Amino acid sequence: MIEREHAPPEINTNVPSVARVYDHFLGGKDNYAADREVVAEVIKAMPPGWRPSTSALDNRAFLRRAVRYLVREGVRQFLDIGSGLPTQGNVHQVAQAAHPDCRVVYVDNDPIVLVHARALLARDPGTTVITADVRRPSEILDDPVVRDFIDFERPVGLLLVGILHHILDHEDPRGIARRLVAGVPPGSHLVISHFRDPGPEHPEESALAARRERIFTERLGVGRWRTQEEIVSFFGDLELVEPGVVPLQEWRPEPFDLIDKHEIYHTFVGGVGRKR
Ligand code: SAM
Repeated sequence: MIEREHAPPEINTNVPSVARVYDHFLGGKDNYAADREVVAEVIKAMPPGWRPSTSALDNRAFLRRAVRYLVREGVRQFLDIGSGLPTQGNVHQVAQAAHPDCRVVYVDNDPIVLVHARALLARDPGTTVITADVRRPSEILDDPVVRDFIDFERPVGLLLVGILHHILDHEDPRGIARRLVAGVPPGSHLVISHFRDPGPEHPEESALAARRERIFTERLGVGRWRTQEEIVSFFGDLELVEPGVVPLQEWRPEPFDLIDKHEIYHTFVGGVGRKR
């Protein structure tokens, strides 16, 4: 745990942040009391015995499988937007384990990510990190560090993992994804994971999604559990890779992966699209 007095001056420890709340869900140590209060509130709203790390760990495992898939498809450079605080199995570690030439640009708008990512990444010439806001996608594509690091003539792995549900409807998450995809060449891939409202098919999970949406909106300003159709639409005219947009654990599980259909299994989905 970071002691309050050691927090870098640009970090406001009194206001919870998405990156630090997520870090606490993952069992990390880079969070503060305000962040832990949000997690405590979510736990209170969930059924007894619910394990708060379930969805976050599902999401990280999905991300790792998707990155390995992209490397198998020939992708060697990644733009990881909304990358979050460094954790176990960061994108560059997963990608470079699959192919040593892989390069990763980490992008996040939370200053705490920059501080921690710099400390971790300083040792790795195949990675860099910038602070930028996905709501201004052109600025990310035009950023000189990004342009220096990524060869836009070659396929790019665009990672929007666990971020678009933190974008409000009127901020146009679909348009953001479209703009980013327009900036990368054919053979590039878009990876999205997103909170989902499973609707009447899973009424109990839908009710739990609504509770979490209320807490996220009140405490973090945004957290949208969108419908399957809305999430699929973020892929635009990309070719959706099998099995499509599905609960995270169902996206190309690896041998020996056990499916654990926990209380909110259907409320977090992921998928991968390929630019033709
Ligand atoms: N991608 C990682 C993963 O899936 O494990 C981290 C996901 S975390 C839930 C969402 C991240 O998106 C946070 O680090 C947060 O700071 C970042 N984020 C939220 N809104 C953003 C924005 N408008 N621009 C850039 N990053 C943003």
